[in-house]
Amino acid sequence: MKNMNTPKNSSLENESNQITINTIATLIIVLLPILGAIVGIKLTLDSQVSLIDIGMLGIMYFLTMIGFDVGCHRYFAHHAFQTTTAVKSLLAILGLMSSQGGLLYWSVGHPLHHKLSDQPGDVQSPNLEGNDFWGKLKGLYNAQVGWVFKIANDGNDPENIVKFEKAIKDPLILKINELQLVWIILGLIIPATLEGLITMSWMGVFKGFIWGGLVRLFLVQQFAGTISSVCHMFGDRPYKTNDYSTNNFWLAIPTLGGSWHNNHHAFPNSAYCGLEWWQIDISNWVIWILEKTGLIWDVKKPTPSMIKARKLQNSSTN
Ligand SMILES: [Zn+2]
Ligand SMILES: [Zn+2]
Repeated sequence: MKNMNTPKNSSLENESNQITINTIATLIIVLLPILGAIVGIKLTLDSQVSLIDIGMLGIMYFLTMIGFDVGCHRYFAHHAFQTTTAVKSLLAILGLMSSQGGLLYWSVGHPLHHKLSDQPGDVQSPNLEGNDFWGKLKGLYNAQVGWVFKIANDGNDPENIVKFEKAIKDPLILKINELQLVWIILGLIIPATLEGLITMSWMGVFKGFIWGGLVRLFLVQQFAGTISSVCHMFGDRPYKTNDYSTNNFWLAIPTLGGSWHNNHHAFPNSAYCGLEWWQIDISNWVIWILEKTGLIWDVKKPTPSMIKARKLQNSSTN
């Protein structure tokens, strides 16, 4: 019956196959780290955790979370600074390893999270499923992990691709983005290989894969998820914004500063999310070092008077 397919039918068939492949790949990327975390708990209970395991987890977590927060979010979504091709390529690779959606989402989709914040069309919002307990719970799930399934097929839309290419311009970054799955897999292989070489054992390969690979991916996914879920439902709102964005001090360290999310909605183009001296923002420190070493420039941040004026806006609308 194959020859009865018109070209249109066959392209529809290809598209639906692609949608299925993308959804299955997303499901594996979400489920596999959960299994890895369960193995990690078992190894911990059996006292099978070494300093090398913890080091591998910590280093890989830091690098991929920086890739996500400084790269995907502050640079590719908000253009909060300018940088060299080498630095932006590295940020893109580390960001894609974090499995928080591709650069197409961050440069084309995430601006809608700010434009439509907590209104229909904002895929990262936890506040669109009703105000009762189950609505809130479903909303939290959506903002925590559900949204990655919603954006899994954004790249099939030709209009999105045109917008993406216009936003990125650089063919090298477009190529890096096409290889997203390769970077995610490399993010599992690299710690496995390193720990195998350090310990010269297959057990080292296995533990590097679990701790630096899967447990790290699980923690990155879940803590990055809290920026959309928890930081749009619970916490402080020092700035009045047209959404429910909040700051959460207790998430500042694991999110590397991403949890100063109400600040971020008040000043979306700022490279700095922590705006007070006491607001720990590790990504700010990385950005500061990169700026001092000349690797990035034109770093956008609000002046103290802009911050003061924004706070005064609060009292005038009270
Ligand atoms: Zn937000
Ligand atoms: Zn943002």
